[in-house]
Amino acid sequence: MAQFDLFVIGAGSAGVRAARMAAQRGARVAVAEAAALGGTCVNVGCVPKKLYSYAAHFADDFRDAAGFGWHLPPATFDWAVLKKNRAAEITRLNGIYENLLTGAGAQIVTGWASVVDANTVRVQTAAGVESFSAKHILIATGGQPSVPQFPGREFVVSSDSMFDLETFPRRLLVVGGGYIACEFASIFNGLGSQVTQLYRGEQILRGFDDEVRAFIAQEVRKHGVDLRVGSDVQSVEKTSSGLVATLVDGSTIEADTVLYATGRVPNVAALGLDSVGVERGASGAIVVDEHYVTSVKSILAIGDVTARMQLTPVALAEAMVVVDRLFGAGKRDMSYEFISTAVFTHPSIGTVGYGEAQARETFGRITVYRSEFKSLKHTLSGSSERTLMKLIVEDATDRVVGLHMVGADAGEVVQGFAVAMKAGATKAVFDSTIGIHPTMAEEFVTMRTAVVY
Ligand SMILES: Cc1cc2nc3c(=O)[nH]c(=O)nc-3n(C[C@H](O)[C@H](O)[C@H](O)COP(=O)(O)OP(=O)(O)OC[C@H]3O[C@@H](n4cnc5c(N)ncnc54)[C@H](O)[C@@H]3O)c2cc1C
Repeated sequence: MAQFDLFVIGAGSAGVRAARMAAQRGARVAVAEAAALGGTCVNVGCVPKKLYSYAAHFADDFRDAAGFGWHLPPATFDWAVLKKNRAAEITRLNGIYENLLTGAGAQIVTGWASVVDANTVRVQTAAGVESFSAKHILIATGGQPSVPQFPGREFVVSSDSMFDLETFPRRLLVVGGGYIACEFASIFNGLGSQVTQLYRGEQILRGFDDEVRAFIAQEVRKHGVDLRVGSDVQSVEKTSSGLVATLVDGSTIEADTVLYATGRVPNVAALGLDSVGVERGASGAIVVDEHYVTSVKSILAIGDVTARMQLTPVALAEAMVVVDRLFGAGKRDMSYEFISTAVFTHPSIGTVGYGEAQARETFGRITVYRSEFKSLKHTLSGSSERTLMKLIVEDATDRVVGLHMVGADAGEVVQGFAVAMKAGATKAVFDSTIGIHPTMAEEFVTMRTAVVY
């Protein structure tokens, strides 16, 4: 049986990073992958999603151009071209991931892996079953979409299928209120679908700042998404003209595609975890300590399978913590505070730190600064899109503990501010920073008047 220092199960964001960095540090490493290298982010997540978001933004750009004197012929969109170009880029990335792994000296094992005991992994490869012995086993199997049971479930699709739909959906029904549902609603709306988005809760994007949630809801509606909250699907039927969703209030919506983006669950089935005694928590997520060690000491888990913060940069950072402890500099903890993130709706959201309600609960006395405006670009474009920026400051320390933006390229703007906030920047530091004029981002360093409630 082949012997390894580290056997990684799953070559997604977390697994590839851990395998590559451990191998670079001289460890004997193997990584098993049952599907395409790169995992969710590369194949059916961040990367194709952002490419499609770029595609959708052209619709706004073409419209906005007229106010700047450009006269364009009516634009047409070719779904097949976008799919083909996306697929070629993803294949290129799959190849890069393979080169990164093999170049670092990690062995790739293609097939479904399961844990046999604390130090043995079995992989079902095309050639048969192979067993591997490893000092450490790292589970980085990610997650998958979860679609609830209801009549007609077989007619709906998950986010995994959206990138390769055979026919472009003229009418799209999106069910869900999380960031994935919101992003797909914006993207397909931009590409030309007539989009209805249903969310059973009171407001989309639970967990984000409440004002940001209300603001983006208003903006996506202005962009053309028919967003309905407090609404849910009861059943879906197939008819001669497409799909018909019957809602809980008895009304119906016709669509060509129904996307369910109602959450994700960890990939833990058929991994052999129960027989080895690896403890699991809510919806099957693997329970780990601060060093990502499971209830079985030689088995570790990182990334989406632990259902902490399901983001690629978080998975990468967790991988580095594990590799440093096992094969490098030693123990260190990962901080989950001030992790910036973006939602690629149209307009987008960028956020780092605490929302207003969350900050009040955590820090007690806070001061809120906010600015809402029409960007310089839209004074000529004719678009009614507005931008929201918000700062939350802890009174006791003057530290900026929350920074939120809804507007163009919000993720690009917020990333830099996240560094300042990690470094503990105070409002006084923000105030003493000279802005870049004319930008939207300068607004974050020129807010002087607190919101009075
Ligand atoms: C539509 C969508 C959009 C997203 N957008 C963003 C974004 O903009 N920004 C961001 O930061 N995050 C985004 N995410 C989240 C991000 O993709 C995940 O957080 C990230 O991919 C998690 O990495 P991971 O390595 O834990 O899991 P994954 O990337 O899911 O990798 C797990 C891998 O394990 C393999 N596997 C599973 N079981 C086995 C087994 N038994 N044997 C062998 N292989 C196995 C799977 O095939 C998969 O390749 C998005 C996710 C989705 C679905």
